[in-house]
Amino acid sequence: MSKKFYITTPIYYVNDKPHIGHAYTTIVADVLARWHRQNKGDVFFLTGTDEHGTKVAESAAAVGKTPQEFCDEISALFEAKWKNLNISNDDFIRTTSARHKKRVIEIFNLLKDAKTPQGREVIYQGEYKGLYCTGCEKFLTEKELVDGKCPDHKTAPAELKEKNYFFRLSDYKDILRKKIEKDEINIFPVKRKNEALAMLEFIDDFSVSRETVKWGIDLPFDKSQKIYVWVDALSNYLTALGYPDDKNYKKWWPADVQLMAQDILKFHTLYWPAILMALGLSLPKNICIHGFFTINGEKMSKSLGNAIDPDELVEKYGVDATRYLLLSQFAFGEEADVQVARFPEKFNSNLANGLGNLVARVSNLLEKNKIPTDLRHDYNHDRKLTKEFEEKMENYKFNEALEVLWKRLRACDEILTKTEPWKMKNKEEIKKVLEPVAQDILSVAELLQPFMPATSEKIVAQFGAKQIKKGETLFPRIS
Ligand SMILES: [Zn+2]
Repeated sequence: MSKKFYITTPIYYVNDKPHIGHAYTTIVADVLARWHRQNKGDVFFLTGTDEHGTKVAESAAAVGKTPQEFCDEISALFEAKWKNLNISNDDFIRTTSARHKKRVIEIFNLLKDAKTPQGREVIYQGEYKGLYCTGCEKFLTEKELVDGKCPDHKTAPAELKEKNYFFRLSDYKDILRKKIEKDEINIFPVKRKNEALAMLEFIDDFSVSRETVKWGIDLPFDKSQKIYVWVDALSNYLTALGYPDDKNYKKWWPADVQLMAQDILKFHTLYWPAILMALGLSLPKNICIHGFFTINGEKMSKSLGNAIDPDELVEKYGVDATRYLLLSQFAFGEEADVQVARFPEKFNSNLANGLGNLVARVSNLLEKNKIPTDLRHDYNHDRKLTKEFEEKMENYKFNEALEVLWKRLRACDEILTKTEPWKMKNKEEIKKVLEPVAQDILSVAELLQPFMPATSEKIVAQFGAKQIKKGETLFPRIS
């Protein structure tokens, strides 16, 4: 039986247009999903959109649309961008869909009856009073304010008091600490684990419903309330699997990898495991968190207008090159600068001159000299290369995994430069030089499949033939 692998991205908030940050998380998820499929894994890859909340309703009103119309439009935009990046998700969950709403209500009914490890009710009614930033759509603590203002929105939050239902997170503090410390929930990289443990000391019960929010799902046991963002959004990882009424969730849950950026670390490493424990479910195995990006050294922001649309990159470089350029530039997990200005240079040196030129030269020489080849093409053919590559993949070192492959490509180039087979006259002699190089190209192309699926497919078809022929130019140079 093949090993199941359930991987998720966060559901993206429709108040934001899809940008390079979303694209990065989603491409990483796609690479892992494809890699597991390639290794005969049974994969379920989920992404989607988070569509409720006051900000969404406000944005819809600002453009003269109903919230649902607005959500339909932006959600479709996300789906279209992912298609354009050749993302192989198996499902796309929306929090305004009937299947999600129905199951979130069931989840709330289960939580309503649940008890904490201390035997108290998980959900209780209380009064919330706090400083509320409408921009963030959350109450802020005094400590988070800078000069009395929200540091992100530069506006003073309003004092707000309302009836809420709460999740008794404080009762889960000890068990969460134990599970995170022992890596029962493996938080990657370690510095994010330490951040989660530090945040744990300051957590409090959190609201699961709101009176002031109008665009949301009705709380089943008190219709004066709407379900608030966290349980609604986080539940998507379960509702997409049909939890609790469809047994399908038993096949896929727990998630094997949950990916996200650092801004939602607290909700995924603390709130989410507590919700799962309250439901009596097991916890996700790996929570993988990447840092924020700057773009060409500047913070990505709406006002600067430097949030890059992934479609622009695809148009300029093509799908596979965009995926390569984004994942090869820096280590997963770190705060990083996306140096878009360096993309043309990198495209030309690593793709046009590197991979593309090597494939063209070798296939051209083999065709011109009518040299038949008999190459092995299976994933495990070059054990040394595969092992080195897999070690990087298992540790989420995607840039280094790609470097393993490019190191081999550079070695091939060196062989050609040194032996100059284009000057040779003897067919056997030429074959002796070119066949191992062609084999290396084929092995690299096999391993490259999760990152650059279309390019990999082309090269594998080309170099898998008995008589290799020159193909189309893979990466035309960019000026
Ligand atoms: Zn704010």
